[in-house]
Amino acid sequence: MAVLLHICCAPCSVECIDALREEGLELCGYWYDPNIQPYTEYRMRRDTLIEYAKRVELPLELADEYDLRAWVRMLPNLDDRCGACYASRLDRAAAYAAEHGFEAYSTTLLISPYQRHDLIREIGGRIGQKYGVEFLYRDFRPRFRRGQYRAREMGLYMQKYCGCVFSEEEAALRKEHSAPKLSEGFEFLPVEPEVTISKERKDKRRYIGLLLEADPSEKLVEKYLDDGELFVLRYKGEAASVAVTVRVDDETVELKNLVTDERFRGRGYAGRLIKYLADNYKPRFRKMLVGTTENNIPFYVKHGFDRYEKTVKNFFTENYDGEIFDGELKCEDLYCYSRRLS
Ligand code: SF4
Repeated sequence: MAVLLHICCAPCSVECIDALREEGLELCGYWYDPNIQPYTEYRMRRDTLIEYAKRVELPLELADEYDLRAWVRMLPNLDDRCGACYASRLDRAAAYAAEHGFEAYSTTLLISPYQRHDLIREIGGRIGQKYGVEFLYRDFRPRFRRGQYRAREMGLYMQKYCGCVFSEEEAALRKEHSAPKLSEGFEFLPVEPEVTISKERKDKRRYIGLLLEADPSEKLVEKYLDDGELFVLRYKGEAASVAVTVRVDDETVELKNLVTDERFRGRGYAGRLIKYLADNYKPRFRKMLVGTTENNIPFYVKHGFDRYEKTVKNFFTENYDGEIFDGELKCEDLYCYSRRLS
């Protein structure tokens, strides 16, 4: 079924997109959020969504209209503004869905436990009937925290308030006095930690299959695996990312291998593992080294390896049997960078 998903912001969309795709629905995102103010905030949220949509290959339709004055004039009553705000956005989404042959439409507003969930459901259904397009209601709220967590890990821009200038004022005042109010009838259940990181001492070689994805020389992998320390990040008990480090000298530890199982990529686990290693090694070493291919330099620089150390010429051609490729790039030299630990 083709579904138009109205998206209020990228962080809220993360788990909604996954949940609907898990149901096998064919999604197209729809941005219509003139309630986001001021303009710089609007632009930030819009651009973050554009980037995120590309990342998760979500077709995205932009109704890119920012008009603060028109939005304020549209509100019947400032004390009860949210209903009108939901309705204006869902009306545009439903109209677009009907015009463009979508069988249903939905909204990421349904993930926020801070929104008036029942009101969104009621308005969404009513507007759906008006345009003859089903309002696909889902209670995404149990996935809210996971979505926010994943968005933060991916480095998405995280907003501090719902959208309008009134909500910005309320959030700022609330911060001084109390916690935000959850939508009626909803409470967070205690969350079990889904992600754990631990150092593995036994049976390190069972991770060789995964480590070979990052470094195809079995001989080299076995050597540093035996000499080094192995860390595993698990998602719900399954090994998602693995890192191997080796002590170089009293001041330096080297990250020899870092790999994430392809099922878990795009969730920021590798970055999280690097941070864990840095925290773990801070008391013992002054710096952490990494040697990488040209393609991966930006990733490591982003994660703190911002000091260039050296280039090992022909490292890949001299140490590996056959040609080594990283994507389209034929690897020849090894680029070494370091990160200060203390
Ligand atoms: S608080 Fe949020 S939902 Fe309510 S009017 Fe402002 S932007 Fe719209």
